[in-house]
Amino acid sequence: MNPKTLLEEYDIVPRKSLGQNFLHDPNMLDKIVSIAELTPNDLVLEVGPGTGLLTERIAKVAKQLTSIEVDERLQPVLEDIVAQNPNLTIRYQDILTLDVNKLYENQPYVVVANLPYYITSAIMRHLLESDHRPTRMVLTMQMEVAERMIAKPDDMSILSVSVQVFGRPQIAARLNPSVFWPRPEVESAVVRIDIYDKPIVDISDYKTFFRVVRAGFGQKRKQLKNALSSGLGLDAEKTAFVFDTSKIDSRRRAETLTLDEWAVLTQAYTTLNS
Ligand code: SAM
Repeated sequence: MNPKTLLEEYDIVPRKSLGQNFLHDPNMLDKIVSIAELTPNDLVLEVGPGTGLLTERIAKVAKQLTSIEVDERLQPVLEDIVAQNPNLTIRYQDILTLDVNKLYENQPYVVVANLPYYITSAIMRHLLESDHRPTRMVLTMQMEVAERMIAKPDDMSILSVSVQVFGRPQIAARLNPSVFWPRPEVESAVVRIDIYDKPIVDISDYKTFFRVVRAGFGQKRKQLKNALSSGLGLDAEKTAFVFDTSKIDSRRRAETLTLDEWAVLTQAYTTLNS
């Protein structure tokens, strides 16, 4: 049943504050599942099952599906789908409080989700910075965010760096607002991210890496030497040391750096403190 009819039956009004735009187009729902290339061996984590249209399609092909929904009003709506799919468990909690290490221990898992757009970045960080990352993620998000995520040097941002360190993102499909109810104001995209076994740059200390990246992007459109000295609290001598050691032109801007260059810059900054 389509989400509008179903929710009216249960007297539930969608909450904008929870990013509740439900995907009702059957072809697009099938396409998302095929982009995920799920097999009967896959353990899948879904964020925000909503009325369950994507959930039931995933449950049909995966070995086991755990769906995390923050809105308990949806429990009676999802009950039938749970009854029909013994491999499905729904937990009613905020995804940001889920401990994926504990849920999956050492078992590989895949994430498939039509994300609540208001916390796209927080969810990505929660999953990518956990000790046990998924092997791939197939995520529906705002087109504008998807495009920033796949950006190349010259157009990089904190988002593209922090995703591309962990995996290779690609836009796999584009979605018109008309395939959702209620209709969102923006275009959407399905992004598939294949996660590397090891992050692409050899950085032993992520915290320092992201501190340097955040400092670099901290002052939009500024030269790196100014951004890093104010963001990391470095005097002129230390700033010069970091750029001399890394052999990166201090007049460049953060959006032009490659991942390897961020790693080299981090290395130089770490030497400074050792
Ligand atoms: N999967 C459904 C679909 O494809 O139509 C619903 C997608 S809707 C864009 C996002 C869903 O995420 C909603 O069901 C919403 O209640 C849920 N949600 C919002 N914030 C959440 C959070 N912090 N943790 C878990 N689920 C959340």
